[in-house]
Amino acid sequence: MYQVSERVKKQFEYTMSIPCVKEAMKFIQDDERNTIEEQKELVLIEAPTREEEKRAAVMMEKFKALGLENVHIDRGGNVVGLRRGSGKGPKVLIEGHLDTVFPFGTVHGVEERDGFLYAPGIGDDTRALAMLLGLLRALNQNEIKTFGDIVFVATTREEGMGGLGGMKDFLNDNDDIDISLTIDNNDMSALIFEATSGETYEVNFYGIGGHAFGSFGEMAQPIHAAARAVAKIADFTVPSDPKTSFCVSNFHGGTAAGVHAIASQATIKFNFRSNSPEELAKLRTKIFDAIEEACREETEKWGKDEITWDKNLISQVPGGTQDSHTPLVESAWLGLKSLDIEPVFHKGGCTNANVAVSKGIPSICLGRAFAPDENRKNIMNHSVHEKFPITDSYKAVQQAFMVLMMAAGIDGETNSVVEGK
Ligand SMILES: [Zn+2]
Repeated sequence: MYQVSERVKKQFEYTMSIPCVKEAMKFIQDDERNTIEEQKELVLIEAPTREEEKRAAVMMEKFKALGLENVHIDRGGNVVGLRRGSGKGPKVLIEGHLDTVFPFGTVHGVEERDGFLYAPGIGDDTRALAMLLGLLRALNQNEIKTFGDIVFVATTREEGMGGLGGMKDFLNDNDDIDISLTIDNNDMSALIFEATSGETYEVNFYGIGGHAFGSFGEMAQPIHAAARAVAKIADFTVPSDPKTSFCVSNFHGGTAAGVHAIASQATIKFNFRSNSPEELAKLRTKIFDAIEEACREETEKWGKDEITWDKNLISQVPGGTQDSHTPLVESAWLGLKSLDIEPVFHKGGCTNANVAVSKGIPSICLGRAFAPDENRKNIMNHSVHEKFPITDSYKAVQQAFMVLMMAAGIDGETNSVVEGK
């Protein structure tokens, strides 16, 4: 049974009893339609990874209209705005990502039907952007002055090859962030505080290359070396806890015309991940040892030339571990309980929160939607059939609001729940 510390529980109960907080919780429920309409508006502004400018410009105007200070687009393309607190508290980041996995021309409209919104990107992570705006309205309308400053950020390049790039840039440029909140999960019941680290590499195998028959026996074969390497990797075993994975995702060699040629080059790409940075490091060593051994075996078989190899790191997701009893996790747990939602402890995670966790910044990833049953959990993000469950979706905003209030504290009432911040 998960037990929340007395200190966090007391602060949560007190925070939720403060009149402006209570009013803001009610406001968020009444404001649901506005958040949904803004979500529908934003999803139509397409924002493939690295091409987020148009959506960023709209978010910038919306941040300004909601009174944020120093609203600007930073060198990473992120939209940044400040909501000042008492000046004595921590600096709390809350962010959602601008980019979607879809190229331009994918979104043809947004449909509202049977309690769902349908459009590619409607949840991931357009909803988070709408939630940031909803949170700002709730803070402004109820004149909430926080103890800590809150930095609202719409980040770029979270998805795919973007590799959490916007968040990496932002945290590299802003080393004064004390607490980081990410909104980027389908289901608000999940408590995501672990950060799965992972790496994706391209490895090239090189040889002389020649005729399949005429040169046979005179040279080692790069494709065969690559195949030996893949076969070795395929036989690896890794722990299931902490969850660790590996996958050779690409295998290329030769040309269409070269069906009777010993190719001079072969290329593989692979991804490996772990909820434990130590396991990740072990696995990395094993993989590159296997590649080295495969090249040596292929070279020794023929003894005529040498298979060489090189590697390129395509993307790297930093990670790390946090305890399940950090004040943020406990606050999120209490928030869900107060909404009658059973918290689910999620194993691992791969969101912008990883960047914060890897830097030792207390962090949690929050959900976008209230999804109590299977039908509503299956929102098919990263698919063109993506949908978002509307009914009671305000609860996700309330949850983010509660965690934000615990993180930032309220001027004259509470400090941040994260001690020492
Ligand atoms: Zn996302």
